[in-house]
Amino acid sequence: MGDTDGRDDRWARAGFATRAIHAGQDPDPATGAVIVPVYQTSTFAQRGVGEHAGWDYARSGNPTRDALETALASLEGGAHGFAFASGLAAGDAVLRTLAPGDHVVMGNDVYGGTYRQFARVHGPWGLEFDPVDLSSVDALEAAWRPETRLLWVETPTNPLLTVFDIAALAAFAHERGARVVVDNTFATPALQRPLALGADVVVHSTTKYLGGHSDVVGGAVVTSDGELAERIGFLQNAVGGVPGPWDVFLVLRGIKTLAVRMRAHCENARAVVAALEELPGVRQVLYPGLPDHPGHDAATRQMDDFGGMVSFRLADEAAAVAACGRFRVFTLAESLGGVESLVEHPGRMTHLSTAGSPLEVPGDLVRLSVGIEDPADLVADLHQALAG
Ligand SMILES: *Cc1c(COP(=O)(O)O)cnc(C)c1O
Repeated sequence: MGDTDGRDDRWARAGFATRAIHAGQDPDPATGAVIVPVYQTSTFAQRGVGEHAGWDYARSGNPTRDALETALASLEGGAHGFAFASGLAAGDAVLRTLAPGDHVVMGNDVYGGTYRQFARVHGPWGLEFDPVDLSSVDALEAAWRPETRLLWVETPTNPLLTVFDIAALAAFAHERGARVVVDNTFATPALQRPLALGADVVVHSTTKYLGGHSDVVGGAVVTSDGELAERIGFLQNAVGGVPGPWDVFLVLRGIKTLAVRMRAHCENARAVVAALEELPGVRQVLYPGLPDHPGHDAATRQMDDFGGMVSFRLADEAAAVAACGRFRVFTLAESLGGVESLVEHPGRMTHLSTAGSPLEVPGDLVRLSVGIEDPADLVADLHQALAG
């Protein structure tokens, strides 16, 4: 049932935190189980040929997955949600709606794996694409072509935390007949709802904040565009990059606490940013909540708060690499969005695949995913790690 209408109208008027807990997550009709069960089955018995309760084979649909898809659609304010095996599988499904010769304009700072998928999978297959500074209308106009079909926007960006104006970009693309996709992984729908700002599609790595506990890999697509939803639903089943029921269950459990977790991530990020600004050796702090951040105005307009991701620059690459190895509370690891704080060196870790490309990240950059530990412990860890 992945391609059916994902709305749960009963909760349509409820607040965000309520929908995160209830939309798509009614008690199990068969048993009364309060939590959506893990339907660990590949197939469903039919009463007669073609007569079934809505599920026939679990690649095409599974009740646990349906619950997550309904919840995700509700949180993003979209009509249709689709769960995928990873964030990259979700993005792949969106790009497969295009055809060889079509052109995509994308931001010039995106997740390294997203860039690798464009450059080494969809590019060789025939999709044209150009990375562009999306805050410059001149750059956008210069890159735009008659065959541009899609504008790919990640905001805030990974790892530079650049913010792009979703409403302005949607207006620009729509005037020219293209769709807009927003990778909403960093902000989550708790802080930013791209569909309401004019975007056509939202993609997520649910591995990050939506899952929230660093224990699952997953992805999602949400849209209210019926034609696109039909295509994505078809691709979800026909290509088959679907998540298993346990993974879906973990993401569903994660999103129940999304609202409170995001508040704590934002609070702690503020404490971390304040500490970084005082530390000698930190040349620049990149955080959309800072008034001198170039995207601060756009962030204030389109986000409810500024998120839990913070990047900063040290003297040089050697200093950044050395600092990454000195943290004790922050764990040196890729990924982000979990309850535990993580630190990483994007140039040598998450964004290695952008080396030598127009998206190469500075070597002196360190990225933090600020968790929900006691902020005093995080600040103390920053002091000891950056004192050396
Ligand atoms: C991690 C990430 C992805 C890719 O998601 P996976 O679940 O790792 O496949 C895409 N976009 C952003 C912004 C990410 O952080």
